[in-house]
Amino acid sequence: MEMLILCVVLVAAIAALAYNRASLTMFTAAIAIILAIGTALDVVSTLGWVIFLLVALPLNIASVRQQYLTKPLLKLYRKIMPEMSSTEKEAIDAGTTWWESDLFRGNPDWHKMHNFPVPRLSAEEQAFLDGPVEELLAMMDDWHTTHERADLAPEVYQYLKDKGFFAMIIKKQYGGLEFSAYAQSCVLQKLTSKSMVLSSIVGVPNSLGPGELLQHYGTDEQKKHYLPRLAKGLEVPCFALTSPEAGSDAGAIPDTGIICKGEWEGKEVIGMRLTWNKRYITLAPIATVLGLAFKLYDPEKLLGDKEELGITCALIPVTTPGVKIGRRHFPLNVPFQNGPTQGDNIFVPLDYIIGGAKMAGQGWRMLVECLSVGRAITLPSNSTGGIKAVAMATGAYARIRRQFKLPIGKMEGVEEAMARVGGYAYMAEASTTMSVGAIDLGEKPSVISAITKYHMTERMRQAIIDAMDVHGGKGICMGPNNYLARGYQGAPVAITVEGANILTRNMIIYGQGAIRCHPYVLAELQAAQLDDEAAAVTAFDKALFGHIGFAISNFFRTFWLSLSGGVFSTAPYSDATAKYYKQMNRFSAALALMSDVAMGTLGGDLKRRERISARLGDILSMLYLTSAVLKRFNDEGRKAEDLPLVQWCCEDNLAKAQLALDELFDNFPNRIVGTVLKRVVFPWGRTLRKASDVTEHKVARIMQTPGEARSRLGHHLYLKNEPLNQLGRMEQALKDVLVAEPVFDKVSHAAGKRLPFYRLNEVADLGLELKVISEAEAKLLRDAEQGRLFAINVDDFEPEYLAADKTLTQQGAGAVEKDKKDKAA
Ligand SMILES: Cc1cc2nc3c(=O)[nH]c(=O)nc-3n(C[C@H](O)[C@H](O)[C@H](O)COP(=O)(O)OP(=O)(O)OC[C@H]3O[C@@H](n4cnc5c(N)ncnc54)[C@H](O)[C@@H]3O)c2cc1C
Repeated sequence: MEMLILCVVLVAAIAALAYNRASLTMFTAAIAIILAIGTALDVVSTLGWVIFLLVALPLNIASVRQQYLTKPLLKLYRKIMPEMSSTEKEAIDAGTTWWESDLFRGNPDWHKMHNFPVPRLSAEEQAFLDGPVEELLAMMDDWHTTHERADLAPEVYQYLKDKGFFAMIIKKQYGGLEFSAYAQSCVLQKLTSKSMVLSSIVGVPNSLGPGELLQHYGTDEQKKHYLPRLAKGLEVPCFALTSPEAGSDAGAIPDTGIICKGEWEGKEVIGMRLTWNKRYITLAPIATVLGLAFKLYDPEKLLGDKEELGITCALIPVTTPGVKIGRRHFPLNVPFQNGPTQGDNIFVPLDYIIGGAKMAGQGWRMLVECLSVGRAITLPSNSTGGIKAVAMATGAYARIRRQFKLPIGKMEGVEEAMARVGGYAYMAEASTTMSVGAIDLGEKPSVISAITKYHMTERMRQAIIDAMDVHGGKGICMGPNNYLARGYQGAPVAITVEGANILTRNMIIYGQGAIRCHPYVLAELQAAQLDDEAAAVTAFDKALFGHIGFAISNFFRTFWLSLSGGVFSTAPYSDATAKYYKQMNRFSAALALMSDVAMGTLGGDLKRRERISARLGDILSMLYLTSAVLKRFNDEGRKAEDLPLVQWCCEDNLAKAQLALDELFDNFPNRIVGTVLKRVVFPWGRTLRKASDVTEHKVARIMQTPGEARSRLGHHLYLKNEPLNQLGRMEQALKDVLVAEPVFDKVSHAAGKRLPFYRLNEVADLGLELKVISEAEAKLLRDAEQGRLFAINVDDFEPEYLAADKTLTQQGAGAVEKDKKDKAA
């Protein structure tokens, strides 16, 4: 009996120590104490102590451990370690890790997360949003831009340049605005709420491109020349990496630079002959300076010993003889300037390289470093602005539009689609704010930027699909009054650019996350690469044994948190949100465990098992997005009226994390491991559910009811009631309809029947005739009728207007007939 109790105590002690991540010394001491008690009780023999000492001593004496354990393990590790390409190495080295690494490590500290400062706008940034941004939006006619002109109007371009919209990232010393990442995000969100074209055109020069690259890597001379000109809009930049042969695999660009001697401005200098064929380049058709990525070779070894120098970035004025640029692609009726460019054997001097000759071959590192930042700002902000605008418009439309004598937003089926839109709007703002906040804290969050880019653009695509469904024909018929269709058309652009989403989900999020966020994997890799063998063994020993302890701890944490459903784990608040923190504790531990299991069992093969990597990345993403939602809720003062939105997001995310984990087990290449661990992680099966119908109903109601919670959803959008601002007009229509409803009820009651909710002008007349409403109330009905008609009506056109080639209509009809006859002949 004593023996049994001792065994139970031993296992419990090991589990408790592991759960709390105790050190090896603590473990050894605890086991020794239990053995001593066992000896006192006469249940532990000398043999027990011998076994203990045989294991404990070599493990605890560093020199013995390193000689007999670490050294052979290091040898084995080097043998099985997959080769990493230099582009992969540079991608992994680029950027920093932040909160996602706490989530990855299985034991998040929620107080730390809540203590991250809330991003705020400076007075100057706020004034820019209230001034130039609003002025710009007031002059913007999106239909004219997207349909009639297929470009921004010249005065809009000029305004963008004059007010520094292209210079939000450029430092003040060069004449730029030097805005925080949060301010950039707010500007882009507001622009998107009226025009995707506008936010794309503004977003690109402020994201990865010449401005960003020059500030970080440019020579003083380059900075002094270009940055003030970029800030004033005297130069329009573009950045060309993508080639027809190399899209996602950008490291494989076939474009070349050959170092050679040549003549430049009358003198013989060392320069490069550039040959490129690029496509999909945003702003290329109107650019004055072309940022170009190419592979640089030095066959005559004019710069040094190396022949292949690697990817290099240079700035080429488009006026350089031989540069072909100016033609346009037509990306999905969202006609921002985008096109191809070519050059064949064009000689330029070495000081065209960004950073000068010393930066030859450093282009890939420069690009991935800048991308860690830019990818978290532009596309997530544009998508967030888009989702929020769609949520506001859908809420208003669903409340105004009636079928079967009811606002369609009160129908359960519609509520389901609406809840997704509302939930995503809340979450998009939460996660974009958190991610840009990290940048403002000085981080270059490469994993977070991939998570935010992927999920915001995917959520935007889903939100716009749902919004189109809710709007029915109103969403489909295009024209100046359609505020959805361009977003629907343009959603795949955001999915494709800056790392196409399938690639981002399957390779980038977890591929970078696993190595960067893991507390020991990178250290092991780096130790194995050290040339000094003694230093390698010491460093590997530290990382390896830390790793083993970490893995054991994660096993026990996962086991206990799964068995208990996480209910005994810690949460910073004990209100309705506590259960979400506890579930995240559980999933965080499970992710840490499964990461080690996947890396341990698959090794380098994990890189090719993309769907395993994608599911692990999904769990990390869901943890990040959920934590952002909880942070937003807290930062905004834990407002009770926002709880349905918080609940919807947390439940949706956690159900997705659960599904990803379950599918991971079902598809785990080692079936025994998959089956056993599934029992550990899901001892009670899949217990989490998506948000209930009741929660979805509450979210849909928030979207349709003006008030604080709804206003927070529309934070930073352009909602002015102006003729060319459909979103603002919908807001006004919603208000007008809601204030008119009690007046309508009064008239209906007096008339003794339920009148239909249309022709409200006639209802106003009837009310006046029955003497049950005042003139002021009649006006409310008339205003509501105007708003209602605006909300439900769609555009129609003269047939000639829609033909892109006007010669084919009326006057051109003869020409068409003649053309047919000619062809027949
Ligand atoms: C409108 C627009 C603007 C752009 N602007 C610029 C710009 O300014 N400058 C610039 O240099 N480039 C720009 N691009 C290029 C853009 O970044 C690339 O389109 C993108 O990298 C994808 O390349 P691709 O279209 O050739 O697709 P591919 O690389 O051919 O990919 C096709 C599909 O395969 C998937 N895929 C590829 N490899 C993998 C993998 N290993 N695992 C899983 N899935 C994979 C991708 O996710 C994608 O779904 C722009 C593109 C567009 C459409």
